[in-house]
Amino acid sequence: MQDLTWVEISREAVVNNLAVLRGRIGEGVKLCVCVKANAYGHGLVEFSRLAVEAGAEMLAVNALYEARALREAGVDAELYIMGYVALRDLAEVVELGASLVVYNLETVEALGKLGRQVKVHIKIETGNNRQGVRLSDLAEFGRAILACGNIEVEGATTHFANIEDTTDDSYARGQLANFERGLAILREVGINPPLVHAANSAATLLFDDALFTMVRCGIASYGLWPSKETMLSFKGVGELKPVMSWKTRVAQIKKVAAGEFVGYGCTYRTTRATVLAILPVGYYDGFDRGAGGAHVLIRGKRAPVRGRICMNIIMVDITDIAEVELEDEVVIIGESGGDRVTAEQFASWAGTINYEVVTRVNERISRIEDFGDLG
Ligand SMILES: *Cc1c(COP(=O)(O)O)cnc(C)c1O
Repeated sequence: MQDLTWVEISREAVVNNLAVLRGRIGEGVKLCVCVKANAYGHGLVEFSRLAVEAGAEMLAVNALYEARALREAGVDAELYIMGYVALRDLAEVVELGASLVVYNLETVEALGKLGRQVKVHIKIETGNNRQGVRLSDLAEFGRAILACGNIEVEGATTHFANIEDTTDDSYARGQLANFERGLAILREVGINPPLVHAANSAATLLFDDALFTMVRCGIASYGLWPSKETMLSFKGVGELKPVMSWKTRVAQIKKVAAGEFVGYGCTYRTTRATVLAILPVGYYDGFDRGAGGAHVLIRGKRAPVRGRICMNIIMVDITDIAEVELEDEVVIIGESGGDRVTAEQFASWAGTINYEVVTRVNERISRIEDFGDLG
């Protein structure tokens, strides 16, 4: 069956991006690549395989089902689960050979009762007020873990709240100081884990003091910058290359006269004789309904969206693009004939961030490896 809408992921770009990150951290720091949210929309299994080949030493997922999917696909890399796992599901973490973030005494107790060796990373609350153990509770938490006897503390970790803002890193520096305090508290109770990690992509790209012994990189692995500020401040070697291209095909070509309405709500009316291409992609697929100002690329030219974005269909204006044919390739995100639509550009149309644009691409759309010049 021919895919009408598909995502290509570039092996070459993955290799490039992990080399850029490796260049920042050197050989002594472990590179953990975050593949939660269907590998930020790039295809959990498809992307994870490429990442491991390109030098990822650990894969971080959010949820148990993601760890399970990777194991079922035969991915045997080290796995770290960063999100909450229900108490009744903790045995499966052990069966999958994954390590797990911990921050609740209830979780520690339940892990203790499993009686089997399990690896955990203690999440220290340093100022994000998301998951994490507050410094005032940390010593007791550490002692509870030690009392179990079967829990190996593989890591200690925290997460920055405001690291993308490179013009004022004072909040991040405060978090870093709190993290150091937390590590000292753990050492006092006799916990000195080999993996100490705080850095996401932005911190890895910019913040030498935050590297410790492991980094957790998501967005940069996909060739996207965490923010414009991060991009402008980066002083490392190389540049990130977007891994994802998102494509579809022309489903109909239609000539309409001047003054005709296009789409639901009659929100758009042609001002001239117009040629429309009807595309088989809509908000169900992840083409945000708010991105009415978007354009796609056909034969290297820009075709603006006309009318409202539908559930499964959009209409674009191809009046000024010569010789478009049925089933021509259409680039939603990616490059065509020297022009490019970036995830950042799409994000500005949709009023969101690049992270959301790529993670929203519907999971049932095929992810196909694009070998680029290598294959
Ligand atoms: C998603 C996530 C990351 C990766 O963040 P990026 O900005 O994509 O690099 C790192 N750590 C945690 C805890 C995360 O949830």
